Amino acid sequence: MALRRKAGYHSGNHTDFIELMNLLRLIIITFVIWIAFRIWQNYRAKAKKMPPKSKKPQAIPDMVACEVCKMHIPENEALRKGEKYYCSQQHLENDN
Ligand SMILES: [Zn+2]
Repeated sequence: MALRRKAGYHSGNHTDFIELMNLLRLIIITFVIWIAFRIWQNYRAKAKKMPPKSKKPQAIPDMVACEVCKMHIPENEALRKGEKYYCSQQHLENDN
């Protein structure tokens, strides 16, 4: 029962070993490239989703201060009278 040695294995032939190493290296390189590609794809997918999110905060309208209480309110929500802005109808009337 001395079947520990595999049949057909040439222990003296180094070419098989070099070929195996070359194949292994090729597999590793392919694997690394594949991983890098996946990371890059994932990064691109995330980068595509990011711009609309980061653009929204920049779209905040200009803030203006109420002429009466000096409270800052978005320009589109403020009540305007000439060059002056007011937070509410009450303050608009109070200023006169
Ligand atoms: Zn006010």
